[in-house]
Amino acid sequence: MNYDVIVKNARIPQGNDTVLTNILVKDEKIVGFTLDLDGIQGNKVIDAEGHLTLPGCIDSHTHINDPGFTHRENFLTGTSAAASGGVTTIVDMPCCSVPSVRSVENLEHKLNAIKNKAIVDYGMWGGVTGEDVRNGWLHNVKEQADYGVLAFKVYMTPSVPTYPRVTDPEMLEAFKAVAETGLPIGIHAENFAMCDFYVKKFEKEGRTDGPAWAEARMTLAEKVAIELGISFAEEAGARLHIVHMSTGVGAKLVGDAKKRGLDVTAETCPHYLTLNYKDAMTEFMQFAKIAPPLRTKSDNEEHWKALQDGRIDFVATDHAPYEIPTEKEAEGMHIWNAFPGIPGVETMVPMIVSEGYNKGRLSLSRLVEVLCSSPAKHYGIYPKKGAMFIGSDADFTIIDLEKEWTIDKDKMYTMAKYTPFHGYKLKGKPVKTVVRGKLVYDDESGIVGEEGYGEFIRRQNIQKLDKAIKY
Ligand SMILES: [Zn+2]
Repeated sequence: MNYDVIVKNARIPQGNDTVLTNILVKDEKIVGFTLDLDGIQGNKVIDAEGHLTLPGCIDSHTHINDPGFTHRENFLTGTSAAASGGVTTIVDMPCCSVPSVRSVENLEHKLNAIKNKAIVDYGMWGGVTGEDVRNGWLHNVKEQADYGVLAFKVYMTPSVPTYPRVTDPEMLEAFKAVAETGLPIGIHAENFAMCDFYVKKFEKEGRTDGPAWAEARMTLAEKVAIELGISFAEEAGARLHIVHMSTGVGAKLVGDAKKRGLDVTAETCPHYLTLNYKDAMTEFMQFAKIAPPLRTKSDNEEHWKALQDGRIDFVATDHAPYEIPTEKEAEGMHIWNAFPGIPGVETMVPMIVSEGYNKGRLSLSRLVEVLCSSPAKHYGIYPKKGAMFIGSDADFTIIDLEKEWTIDKDKMYTMAKYTPFHGYKLKGKPVKTVVRGKLVYDDESGIVGEEGYGEFIRRQNIQKLDKAIKY
């Protein structure tokens, strides 16, 4: 028998164990598994060398900034960064392009601008803002959903000028509109008035240290925002998703809401699992400035527990690079006015493998869920993505679990060469990334994917995550 591609010597997960097999690929999809390659030929052979081979990992929260802010990142550099980090599908946010994505027309504009650049696959978040509510433009929600966006995003705090925040009643109206589509609504959960007040207060008092940013945008601002979001979601019947959740108390609130049977989910990011604000913001200053900010070591540990037991559903990165000379350290720039955001798409999988799985904080089955199957199910693209079934896309993240290496900002593929993980020593690294049967990254050769190979992935179905919490 002849196949397009054979991925040989792949050690694939089966629950918390692995089995060694050869994966057969035809027309970009998995068509079989075999232990015996006698009489079987592949036009191409990718050798997994006995390494752990996961379904392609998904980063469901990126800000690639294309079109409009391509001095920060474009779809080629952003998806190259993804490929090098073992990510085969990204889901890109609606806010960081010009125009921002809040209608089918604007979404098509963005898809046209990026379609010849991507080297991994991509889905899209739809958008809804306070302005859309005020101007009676909520019909755009259903139209974007029908077009195939995977979720909607609202901001309780301001992000970019072209994507206005929602007031509380505007958020409730947005929830109602999105609830009718059956899609999740993700919220940036920080209380605007509190963040605004304490940032101004601390700045006026003369604080110039890095940790001041985190102390101003305090834990309580996230806690009350999540509480409000849960109340509104319950009222509107919406599927609430807390994006980039940062606090341990947030994990408790989400866990309690799940136990009450509400459709509330949450993601955390590698930096909320591994970095604390006092150390990282002292060392990296505005290069560790993000919103919500880094928290404490006890929040880190609480998030690992919540990720393992299911209160936190999966991991994403909030990849949001800024141009260093103009947006991070221009003349007169300081902790209060530098832009908040860090790159992350290429460090997610290795961080979670090294600090989660290899250190015993995550089981193998949970590793597969938080990087692959849970985001795919949540965003309605499973089992095309996030699974290794017959008929699933032949996306694979091949990981050398023993490889010891150090994150180096200057070796990253993202356009903005900074990361608060610079100097972090890890054990475990993605060494090959395969998208629909095509090798797009190889640790020895670097990026080998082609610009424009990446495809737009529309929503396939509506699925909800199991609310069972395992503790
Ligand atoms: Zn974000």
